[in-house]
Amino acid sequence: MTASFPWHIGVFDAHCHPTDTMSSIAAVPDMKARALTVMATRAQDQQLVANVADDLGIKSHRVDSWGSKERIVPSFGWHPWFAYQMFDEAEYGGKQTLDDDAKVSHYKQVLSPAPDDCNFISSLPDPIPFSVFLAQTRQHLERFPLALVGEIGLDKSFRIPQPPLHEHHETRDSSLTPGGREGRRLSPHCVSLEHQKVILTAQLNLAGQLRRAVSVHGVQAHGVLFETLRATWKGHERKPMSKRERKRRGISAEEAADERDDSPKPYPPRICLHSYSGHPSSLSQYFDASVPADVYVSFSTAINYSDRAASTTSQSIKVVPDDRVLVESDLHIAGEDMDKYLEDVIRRVCDIKEWSLEEGVQRLRSNWERFAFGGERR
Ligand SMILES: [Zn+2]
Repeated sequence: MTASFPWHIGVFDAHCHPTDTMSSIAAVPDMKARALTVMATRAQDQQLVANVADDLGIKSHRVDSWGSKERIVPSFGWHPWFAYQMFDEAEYGGKQTLDDDAKVSHYKQVLSPAPDDCNFISSLPDPIPFSVFLAQTRQHLERFPLALVGEIGLDKSFRIPQPPLHEHHETRDSSLTPGGREGRRLSPHCVSLEHQKVILTAQLNLAGQLRRAVSVHGVQAHGVLFETLRATWKGHERKPMSKRERKRRGISAEEAADERDDSPKPYPPRICLHSYSGHPSSLSQYFDASVPADVYVSFSTAINYSDRAASTTSQSIKVVPDDRVLVESDLHIAGEDMDKYLEDVIRRVCDIKEWSLEEGVQRLRSNWERFAFGGERR
């Protein structure tokens, strides 16, 4: 028999998408998980995430003070899968909308291979100006002072879906938030990494200015993802305090490392690599003493324990420091399954880390609290 699960300690989903299935939100207050970190990804879900945060958002960073309706930590961001739907106004003379010709040239520029089928291009959404999105995101973050930035990132393998077929319109599942893939076939077109990097970097800068944690997606782009993150903290690398300096100030090495200042920076204070799928050996660069952001690594059953990924995932879990591991469901529907997936991944992490379930759930809870809210303010 499997041991009973210590839900009462508090389980936190570090990354999920329940606004993709709005009808499932009603199930959130009855879930065994204490709170969900809910990602926005595209045009259609930013306001939905704000709406669920109005109803079920947490109101303070003190978990023990939360009421039973405080269940959601909103997170606002633009996912790399949708990066092609945004254009940089600077390249179009500050225009806020693109005419047909400009739309064609935008999509030819950001998609690779460049599409030459005009019907395909005109079936794509009219691209929106990136600065408008950034301004809206800033407003959301200011309105929700405990909100995070996400989901953002880089994805080299993603190809954009074909437009929906006509008959699909009548048969589509209306309970799904529009804009997702919905079983569409994929086109051969990837989104240029250069364009993805522009979108990612601006969101990292915004998170840095407002001192918010970020949740980052990286698929088949782990090297360039690290380089893009590192570029945001160039010149801000952490220098270990000398022994003499510590002695003069009467603080321990740990206290010295923990000293943070809360002034705006170009890089986010805390980063979660969500459903980490890179090589275990690529993780050490994130934990180098010079990295001024605190990096957390999150694992899910949905992504990390597909047959192919399981053994490297277990290696990665071993490599991540005990105080930097997070768990997530990454599911698109809230409720019982989300609880099941969370329990499953927690059991796996506890097994690998050789923690008892009680110890593990407690550690994962404090890791999530430090990731979401920062260590010093509590
Ligand atoms: Zn996600």
